[in-house]
Amino acid sequence: MTTSLTVDHEELQAAKEYVRHVYAQVKERNPHESEFHQAVKEIFLSLVPVFAKHPIYMKSGILQRLVEPERMINFRVSWVDDLGNVQVNRGFRVQFNSAIGPFKGGLRFHPTVNSSIIKFLGFEQIFKNSLTGQPIGGGKGGSDFDPKGKSDAEIMRFCQSFMSELGRYIGPDTDVPAGDIGVGAREIGYLFGQYKKMQGSYHAGVLTGKGLSYGGSLARTEATGYGTVYFVEEMLKDKGLQFHGSTVVVSGSGNVSIYAMEKAVQLGAKVVACSDSNGYIYDEKGLNLDTIKLLKEVGRKRLSEYVHAHPEAEYNEGSYGIWSVPCDIALPCATQNEIDEEAAKLLIKNNVKAVGEGANMPSTLEAIDVFLNNGILFGPAKAANAGGVAVSALEMAQNSARMPWTFEEVDTKLHGIMKNIYKNSIEAAEEYGEPGNLVVGANIAGFLKVADAMLTQGIL
Ligand code: NDP
Repeated sequence: MTTSLTVDHEELQAAKEYVRHVYAQVKERNPHESEFHQAVKEIFLSLVPVFAKHPIYMKSGILQRLVEPERMINFRVSWVDDLGNVQVNRGFRVQFNSAIGPFKGGLRFHPTVNSSIIKFLGFEQIFKNSLTGQPIGGGKGGSDFDPKGKSDAEIMRFCQSFMSELGRYIGPDTDVPAGDIGVGAREIGYLFGQYKKMQGSYHAGVLTGKGLSYGGSLARTEATGYGTVYFVEEMLKDKGLQFHGSTVVVSGSGNVSIYAMEKAVQLGAKVVACSDSNGYIYDEKGLNLDTIKLLKEVGRKRLSEYVHAHPEAEYNEGSYGIWSVPCDIALPCATQNEIDEEAAKLLIKNNVKAVGEGANMPSTLEAIDVFLNNGILFGPAKAANAGGVAVSALEMAQNSARMPWTFEEVDTKLHGIMKNIYKNSIEAAEEYGEPGNLVVGANIAGFLKVADAMLTQGIL
């Protein structure tokens, strides 16, 4: 690659026209899939200067191929609840792109799951996985099953039914699922057990996020949250800022949130607010993370109960209100589109300096524009939350070698990977004429590796 962006006006127009044309096709061929359109649009807008500079990507139809999953599996998941009633859910797995490695991406169990959500997540995963520098392609899956309020036995029966179909399409060198919203250590255990029974042999590398006693990696639980904070730390460092002494707001109180809070506190920040899907808690003196872990990780309870143990804190109904809490650093770690234009403006009014996306696509396109136009440091999900899948790839490596690493070894590798993602994204943004824009930089850096692999593998 050359070091400066010198393209003719004509080439730029051709690139814009190409992107417009393929985007129109995506909308036409995938009607009613607004989340998927949103994810595609964000990437496409970033890639215009790449196509202008390297028309070979247009000639080989890279975008048309990228937006079409290699395979999409939809299946019925029937199971019996504790009352003996038959329940039927929908299962999904999108195997989006395997140019640089086996499909890799989490499973989400949540009532909002549909093909649009799975495709947006799978599409983003292609570029995120590429950014990690690990040999993993992009995939994603899940079900509209709601684990909330279900007994352990119901969760187990659901997971077994889900895997009895999904198990035909995955494998350590084919497709390696992991957790996401609603899929934690418990669900991965049941899914793994069923896969093992189906195969009649032990394939540790078929799933990641496993328990430590059967092939899991130390630091996988912490990886996404820690990684997000490591990434934001790099963004801050470049501007002479730091976590130490900062006030931080983290949405959600699940896996990503809890470990983002933990690392932020370790680095000397004060976390004053977090949320769940019902509301948010706020304490200007700082939240007690041990209580949050007990409530959410052990008790699977509502965050509203936090104030019973800490009456000095306040609980407010409605999770959206968290964006009105003044902070220096905001880490959205709950779900997609949780920060809209209005929330972004509110954060800026309250002097936010940096936003790092722990969740997938938590900011709308309009919110991202507000952040970028106001000079807020903005770490996009694809880059900032790639630590989880990066450590999943390290889990696969340990499984292949049949050799576990220590927590410190994995954490050090994770830290190095996050620093590299930051460096590669910043450099790509600079090279393609958008210095400091990590949205553009991450999209381009992630794209180039996948696109080059696709070019060399022929038209598939
Ligand atoms: P969890 O299921 O562990 O936690 C999700 C959290 O978000 C819960 O606290 C949930 O609350 C809360 N939540 C859900 N919807 C809302 C809402 N509308 N407003 C506020 N809070 C809400 O999921 P994860 O932590 O694993 O995932 C969170 C995000 O991070 C997702 O976008 C996921 O795709 C992304 N991600 C996860 C990775 C991982 O390794 N786990 C890797 C990369 C990205 P409640 O308890 O009420 O359900």
